[in-house]
Amino acid sequence: MIPTTSDILETMTDGFIALDSEGTVTYFNRQAEHILHYDRDEILECTLTDVLPEEVSTVLAECIAATISTQQTQTVTLEYPGLQRWLKFQLYPKAPGVLMYFSDVTDDVRSQAIREQVQSALRQQVNEHTRRLEQLNEKLLYDSMHDALTGLPNRSFFMDCLQKAINRTFLQEPFTVLFLDFDRFKRINDSLGHVLGDELLIALAQRLRQFIPPEGIMARLGGDEFIFLLNANSSAVTAELLADKISKALLQPFFIRGREIYMTASIGILIASEGYERAGDVLRDVDLAMYQAKANGKARYAFFDENMREQIITQVTLESDLRLAIERKHIQVFYQPIIDLYEDKLAGFEALARWQHPERGFVSPTKFIPIAEESDIILDIDNWVFQQACQQLQAWRQQNPASASLSVSLNVSSKQFSRAGFGAQVEHILKTHELSPSSVNIEMTERVVMDDTFGVQKNLTFLNDLGVHLHIDDFGTGYSSLSYLHKFPAHSIKIDRSFVDVMMERHETLELVRTLITMAHTLGLQVVAEGVESREQLNVLKELGCRYVQGYFFSKPMTSDEAYHYIQRYQKPRLAQENLITVDN
Ligand code: C2E
Ligand code: CA
Ligand code: CA
Repeated sequence: MIPTTSDILETMTDGFIALDSEGTVTYFNRQAEHILHYDRDEILECTLTDVLPEEVSTVLAECIAATISTQQTQTVTLEYPGLQRWLKFQLYPKAPGVLMYFSDVTDDVRSQAIREQVQSALRQQVNEHTRRLEQLNEKLLYDSMHDALTGLPNRSFFMDCLQKAINRTFLQEPFTVLFLDFDRFKRINDSLGHVLGDELLIALAQRLRQFIPPEGIMARLGGDEFIFLLNANSSAVTAELLADKISKALLQPFFIRGREIYMTASIGILIASEGYERAGDVLRDVDLAMYQAKANGKARYAFFDENMREQIITQVTLESDLRLAIERKHIQVFYQPIIDLYEDKLAGFEALARWQHPERGFVSPTKFIPIAEESDIILDIDNWVFQQACQQLQAWRQQNPASASLSVSLNVSSKQFSRAGFGAQVEHILKTHELSPSSVNIEMTERVVMDDTFGVQKNLTFLNDLGVHLHIDDFGTGYSSLSYLHKFPAHSIKIDRSFVDVMMERHETLELVRTLITMAHTLGLQVVAEGVESREQLNVLKELGCRYVQGYFFSKPMTSDEAYHYIQRYQKPRLAQENLITVDN
């Protein structure tokens, strides 16, 4: 039997409604009754608007109109109020009306909703993940541009900024760079240990922060090297002012775990206009300027100039020549007498290093000692001079018993004092040459006195216990505070030549010299005045109660043979001394 259309319509699983052109229902199948909960009789001959809930009928009416006007199939899924079901309607044009199939798609819609929920949760997770990744990325980027210890911009950050500044010089915007390296940081770091060394670096960075120029930056290049890039169009005056401020700020000590530490810095300054293309070149030149500041005696600044490249090359060759000089015994020791005015006799000699360079001739210690101090060569020089002078003193004693009371003063670089075992080494040299410790004076700068680090203090205590006399050289030019002198086991202070030099002309300096002498005596210290060149200076120093004097007025530093003659002549009666005074060489 062939099924009729009505059989098909009545047995299919979709709801079916036929509408005429007016929207009046002409067919309503059983499944439609079942889904929509209407009786066929209620609905036939009515329009959908008459019977269905408004939310549904409005949407359907629009679809019906669209189907008729476009003669295209329309599909719509909507929630049927009251039934909590989702229905999907498909409308087909069937002139003059519309055929409408519909089915319950609630389960589909629900599972779709669940899918969407899952998807949205997933999306959220992915977003969260991405956000965290981005944060991590940002942190990595930040870390790659900053120094972990101080939090300051690091070398690569700085180099970027520098390159940008260089590019702007084409726009006529010159810039200034200040390169700062702390003096003797390595020694402090070695003697304090790296943990305290790091704390000191943090404290140094903190103190420098106040000087970050408003539009400039400050970075840590590594180790104890810091660098400033100043605002465009900053002048030499601004840079000098900044260098001064930094040096002043460093006058205050740092307190690291109960230790008082004094720091100084050497600063190179470079004012760049055109002519630079790469950041590396600027860094190289400002580094040279800093190196120059160190070579000039540290704790100061130097401006870069073109000649520095040449000078540095000379210094570098000097440094390698200096190593050879020690091996080849080109470093000689000269001796300058020190006179005891109370007893009117020769007290001893200061041993001073001299370098006879095979090509350059005589090189002054004011030139080669700072270079030697930059490396460890100074240790070899000091050792050599120490050994030579002790050997020489012993030789004089054997040649002439009257020299038994003479002493020798030795300049010892501050670097020696932080070396473990320096005290023991001195003891060993003295034993080798059978000298009593009190026949040796060790001259050191005020900086050593102020150095509160353990290694330095240990050596000083050792030497003092041994009986070696400790003399503070160039007194008055450093930062010694009286409180330190009080604690320090010094035997004498040496008043710097620069004071003696001008004390006759400058009343304030004379007063300062008077104060230094009185103060030293109050603290139980002896005084040696350096650089006495005239009888007038000598008389004034005598009047002020200064016991020991040294200077060209008596003699310039001389070879050991000349010094031996001097010893013999000085032992002649007082009368002969007048002649000695004129023996200048
Ligand atoms: P210093 O320890 O202050 O030595 C005194 C310097 O003043 C010596 O210069 C000496 O020649 C000079 N001088 C002495 N009397 C007079 C004077 O009346 N007038 C003038 N104008 N100068 C006078 P020198 O020998 O050139 O030594 C310079 C510096 O080099 C020394 O200063 C010392 O700091 C350092 N030095 C020399 N030898 C050694 C050494 O063996 N080891 C170390 N570490 N440093 C040394
Ligand atoms: Ca000296
Ligand atoms: Ca001196």
